[in-house]
Amino acid sequence: MLTFLKPTLYGIFEDEPARGAYLKGGRCQCGYVFFPWQTLGCERCGDTTSLQPTQLAGAGVVLASVIVHLHATNDRPTPFVIAAVRLHDGPLVRTLLAERSGGVPRILPPGHPVVAELVEVPQPGNPSSSVLDLRFVASSEQ
Ligand SMILES: [Zn+2]
Repeated sequence: MLTFLKPTLYGIFEDEPARGAYLKGGRCQCGYVFFPWQTLGCERCGDTTSLQPTQLAGAGVVLASVIVHLHATNDRPTPFVIAAVRLHDGPLVRTLLAERSGGVPRILPPGHPVVAELVEVPQPGNPSSSVLDLRFVASSEQ
């Protein structure tokens, strides 16, 4: 069983694995939904007493994406694609895109649907072993 690289940010619907990965966000009594989960206070109303952890569906649409050919550090091989994704549940997340088939990811046009998947990546500091990390991939649903 592989472990998650960032278990505080995402998980998998254990009772319904077909639903895939979820993001660990939160919800305020004012209706605001946010990611990642935090207890500092609602970004809309400031309330700190009614925040509830919420599993956000790993699905949304691309707002913008860009391919990175040259990175400031060499801890992430290039090229890779960063996208701003508006989750169907509300929050905007900045994330890495991946291809289902593996290989070099491509940019996606604004409005393109994407879903979250957990993919095997080399473990930082121990590249001979793998961990699972969250990526978004193009969804076939339009
Ligand atoms: Zn609020």
